[in-house]
Amino acid sequence: MNQYSPKPSIDEREMRGQSIAQNFGWVRRVDETSYMVHSQRLDREYSVIQTETGWVCDCPDAQFRLLKCKHQWAVEISWTLRKRVEEARRIEPIQGQACVACGSESLMRWGVRHNKSGDIQKFMCRGCGRFFTVNIGFEKMKHNPKAITTALQLYFSGESLRKTKDSLRLMGVEVSAQTVLNWIGKYVGLMEKYADSLAPKVSDTWRADELYVKVKGNLKYLYAMMDDETRYWIAQEVADTKYIHDARNLLRMSKEVAGKRPHTLITDGAQNYAEAVTREFWPNLEPRTRHIRDIRFDGTIHNNKMERMNGEIRDREEVMRGIKTMDTPILKGMQIYHNFIKPHEGLDGRTPAEATGLVVTGSDRWLTLIQNASRPNEFRQSNREGSPNAD
Ligand SMILES: [Zn+2]
Ligand SMILES: [Zn+2]
Repeated sequence: MNQYSPKPSIDEREMRGQSIAQNFGWVRRVDETSYMVHSQRLDREYSVIQTETGWVCDCPDAQFRLLKCKHQWAVEISWTLRKRVEEARRIEPIQGQACVACGSESLMRWGVRHNKSGDIQKFMCRGCGRFFTVNIGFEKMKHNPKAITTALQLYFSGESLRKTKDSLRLMGVEVSAQTVLNWIGKYVGLMEKYADSLAPKVSDTWRADELYVKVKGNLKYLYAMMDDETRYWIAQEVADTKYIHDARNLLRMSKEVAGKRPHTLITDGAQNYAEAVTREFWPNLEPRTRHIRDIRFDGTIHNNKMERMNGEIRDREEVMRGIKTMDTPILKGMQIYHNFIKPHEGLDGRTPAEATGLVVTGSDRWLTLIQNASRPNEFRQSNREGSPNAD
């Protein structure tokens, strides 16, 4: 299970294909059936076209050695991503004209509630009999939704708590740092549960990574399970030390979020995942999960991927120093930001969530997420039902 892959294999061409696909502009779609793919080593492109028997490439590997070359892999990966985004489930903002629960447009005005940020119209739905305000998710908050989602955006895109507070003041919103932290705690908790229920359609290759974060000067380890293809951050766990961590928990959570096991799990050499893999991913049952440790080959893109992740986290170190209770709301918030909010260059400017078939729409994605996370369970939009991947 822990074997190192010794020779250039089908997997390696697939991974090289992946790194080509993740280079911005390297896979150019000419039309439905033809692509131009940049060479990994030369400054040229190969032509990959679709035929009745699949994609055909004009590179030497494909032409003379009759292999499925990395360019074909790259096109397949890019094509799949495109299809997935086309067929994606859309998570829409909730506007005032329909019931937040059942979607019925047959509404009755039911008085007005006053609070600091203004008057809020209350409605009664004739369809399901529920009462609601169009302020879903923010009902008991003193400040308006815009202030709160702006705070989330500023903070998770890298501003310090102080800067976040200062920017809010420019919007006419006076709050303490503690209030901002309270918002983060409340809304990250809400979005986290919702996000975990969405069933992202992740690929079959996952990567478990360990990142260290400093919290009040103490080193903590953040264990992150990432989908290799879409960059979706599937699950996380925080531990005090590098050695006592039981990787089983991370594997179990990942399995629950993704609704499946990976075919390939890549881990680095430091952490012993072998036993956890055996217990959680049952590598002896079909389809088997292969566990690859410490994979290294000349292409550096895979290392880069994790380094970038490390960068995202390290940038937060300064910010996190001021926080008393470590921890999970901040790191979970970073996970939500990474998955749903921040466009990813390696995905043609899509978010990892979009790459897994979850498109959050609206001009304020934080708002859309919070609104949807606040809907009654039975009316939530989820990817779970009928998902071909949820076996
Ligand atoms: Zn080729
Ligand atoms: Zn209703």
